[in-house]
Amino acid sequence: MIFKIISLFPELISGLSSCGVIARAVERNLCALDALNPRDFTVDNYRRIDDKTFGGGPGMVMKIEPLELALAAAKAALLQSGVVKSQVVYMSPQGQPLSQQLVNQLSLEPGLIVVCGRYEGVDERFIERNVDVELSIGDFVVSGGELPAMLMLDGIIRQIPGVLNSSGSAVDESFMDGLLDYPHYTHPREYCGMSVPEVLLSGNHEQIRRWRLQQRLLRTQLRRPELLNKLKLNPEQSRLLKEVMNK
Ligand code: SAM
Repeated sequence: MIFKIISLFPELISGLSSCGVIARAVERNLCALDALNPRDFTVDNYRRIDDKTFGGGPGMVMKIEPLELALAAAKAALLQSGVVKSQVVYMSPQGQPLSQQLVNQLSLEPGLIVVCGRYEGVDERFIERNVDVELSIGDFVVSGGELPAMLMLDGIIRQIPGVLNSSGSAVDESFMDGLLDYPHYTHPREYCGMSVPEVLLSGNHEQIRRWRLQQRLLRTQLRRPELLNKLKLNPEQSRLLKEVMNK
């Protein structure tokens, strides 16, 4: 999957691909990401990418011309790599809230262009003319679209087949099937008087599966009941939840 990120701070984006899971995915050619700086697409002597907001008021607005030129360059580069059509995402606090479901859908795309705003945001006409979807990381405002974009990209890249070492590890996680994850433990078995639950040491795979499922149901019920309300529990899940809630 190929990502083109339009950002005034490409150095932030390169940090993402230099460590951990994402760096490994890039090294193994499972994905490629690079940033285009709209400032490199300015045509005036001052390389101006922002201007005052019409109607008055505080803050500056990112100008449409350098953004559209950067976008055209991103599309051309994708085309050269064989990606004919790619979605254009604008990171925005006014966008659709990101979810695991959306991240999973986006991970099926061959390419993605992500636009990061700064200041008061981008000229509205850029959004109207070019953006397929606006996505938000939550109901709070940060200073730029780079961190939101990086969160989203991390979520997408770890869903690309082959990126995570164990193929099961992305499937097992919170939200993948609507439930939160179960608790995890590692050595030592005892720590400050706290023991690892006995069942996890039993070697009985069926008992471990049931305990984990029950813990997932319990956690979801206690922490995010609205998620559980959206699910239709099967008979085993209903029984395990009832059993643990009655304890
Ligand atoms: N004036 C905008 C508003 O109130 O809706 C906020 C602009 S914000 C300071 C600058 C940029 O940060 C935005 O253009 C957007 O790209 C990004 N941004 C800020 N908060 C975000 C969020 N919750 N989700 C996604 N992007 C966000």
